[in-house]
Amino acid sequence: MTVLVVGSVAIDSVETPFGRADRVVGGSATFFASAACHLTPVQLVGVIGEDYPVERLAPLADHGVDLSGLERAPGESFHWRGRYRHDLNQAETLETRLGVFSHFRPKIPPAFRRAPFVFLANIDPRLQLEVLAQVEAPRLVACDTMNFWIESRRGDLISLLGRVDLITLNDGEARQLTERSNLVHAARWILERGPRYVIIKKGENGAFMFTRDSTFFAPAYPLETIFDPTGAGDSFAGGFMGYLARTGDLSDANLRRAVIVGSAMGSFAVERFSNERLLALTPDDLERRVGAFRELVAVEGGAALWRQAPTLARAAGGTPRPETQPDAERR
Ligand code: AMP
Repeated sequence: MTVLVVGSVAIDSVETPFGRADRVVGGSATFFASAACHLTPVQLVGVIGEDYPVERLAPLADHGVDLSGLERAPGESFHWRGRYRHDLNQAETLETRLGVFSHFRPKIPPAFRRAPFVFLANIDPRLQLEVLAQVEAPRLVACDTMNFWIESRRGDLISLLGRVDLITLNDGEARQLTERSNLVHAARWILERGPRYVIIKKGENGAFMFTRDSTFFAPAYPLETIFDPTGAGDSFAGGFMGYLARTGDLSDANLRRAVIVGSAMGSFAVERFSNERLLALTPDDLERRVGAFRELVAVEGGAALWRQAPTLARAAGGTPRPETQPDAERR
């Protein structure tokens, strides 16, 4: 099944402790599509200016991304300049030049309006709402946002919450939006305003998925080298939505699997600047990394784990703890 993504198609200039990249391909929709295209057909809607190096989007088209909804407008392309210091979870925005984005009104081509999965990537929430007015009965609508919009378009963002099934945002954004420092409280605040699912990303510390009655956590893949965290969140969303669209299964169990695929995609995105690593991805790479994720959290013993503990302690020469210990501790 198809995923429609509407978001920024940017030129990024990024500095990390490991190097810098000037005027490379970036943008929330670009990273999303670069991940999702490995799983399902993608339709992209966005805007670029006259200065955009369109030839650098050709690999996306080669991977089956339909770019017929990408408008070219007179003026300068959206440009984001950011820096990461040693805390790679924290992007510092040095400059946001909206350029053609400031007059952008998304027009969803008729052929895209029936997309069953819709991702409103990080753009002005007013535009995200305009997209929703143009799509016809999608099965799942998800959105993303960032501090820039939480500060400048808070009211619109809260209206948007009432119209989406799922929102992804990072922990800092969740705290800023909800004015709650505890993430469980922040998730509840968001769930009370509409979405059925809230995914709170914590960068190299993994991601939580909250529903009204469950919490799921996936760790981040422990990479030895993280080159450039830009786009990790959008790539996570691309993997997550791409997997749901590919399987067409919206059960809670499948949403949990989708979080793992999203985490795998996020981990690839940060291995190189821009969307380079994502574009070079093979099905084997993806399969191996998803397998590594399963290994990361696999534990033998299941529910019997605790009951085995006294035996293990005895075998190791330690003092066995009584079987009733958990209850005793509770008291
Ligand atoms: P993330 O996945 O959160 O790291 O998103 C990174 C991408 O977001 C970059 O490629 C930027 O071009 C894009 N971006 C930065 N600021 C904005 C903004 N205000 N609106 C839309 N996209 C943005």
